[in-house]
Amino acid sequence: MQVRGDFPTPVKVLLAKRVGYRCSNPNCRMLTIGPQVDPLNSVNIGVAAHITAASPGGPRYDKSLTSEERGDSSNGIWLCQKCAKLVDSDSTRYTIEKLLNWKNLAEQAALNELEGRPGASKGTEVIPFQKLEALMPELLAEMREDLSKFPVRREFVLLKKKWTYFGNELHYFYEDHPDLRNKIRILENYDLVKDITSTGVDRFVLTEELAQHLMPL
Ligand SMILES: [Zn+2]
Repeated sequence: MQVRGDFPTPVKVLLAKRVGYRCSNPNCRMLTIGPQVDPLNSVNIGVAAHITAASPGGPRYDKSLTSEERGDSSNGIWLCQKCAKLVDSDSTRYTIEKLLNWKNLAEQAALNELEGRPGASKGTEVIPFQKLEALMPELLAEMREDLSKFPVRREFVLLKKKWTYFGNELHYFYEDHPDLRNKIRILENYDLVKDITSTGVDRFVLTEELAQHLMPL
């Protein structure tokens, strides 16, 4: 949270509104606005945090930005006070990419909720991507690498190395990833992959939600 170089009020309000006044940390999603005792006032415990710091030496400072760009809404993310403190206390863990991804997910969650989409992530029910990254780091890293090479491929198969398989789908080997089928099952449970197996080979499709998480725009 920067005091110097704070965002102008309209930018703060915009950032807050675009995520329904909820903290953008997918593991938090705390509501940041509510009533005060005074019937004419509300309480706001949210913060428009800087993705790259407002001043040199601050967290994730990017000297290539102009001061105008630093104060732009594109450089802000709406967080609760605790999460704002957290992301500024460990800029190695909370990278620019991670914060942009949080922002994206939070805006998508707000839109889903707004549109009343069936099965939409509501409130605290946002996909716990951090937990998934911790559960299967190698698998998600390989998927991420594959999507960077083949950004429009979504279909993938699970194979054993001794099998001869011809096909240009993405593929993951049982030998490379212990409990591979169970890991895929977890992704299925979160609707991040869909099982489209029709023959002997385990075949799946990555959903856009997972692709977006792996390769944020
Ligand atoms: Zn929070």
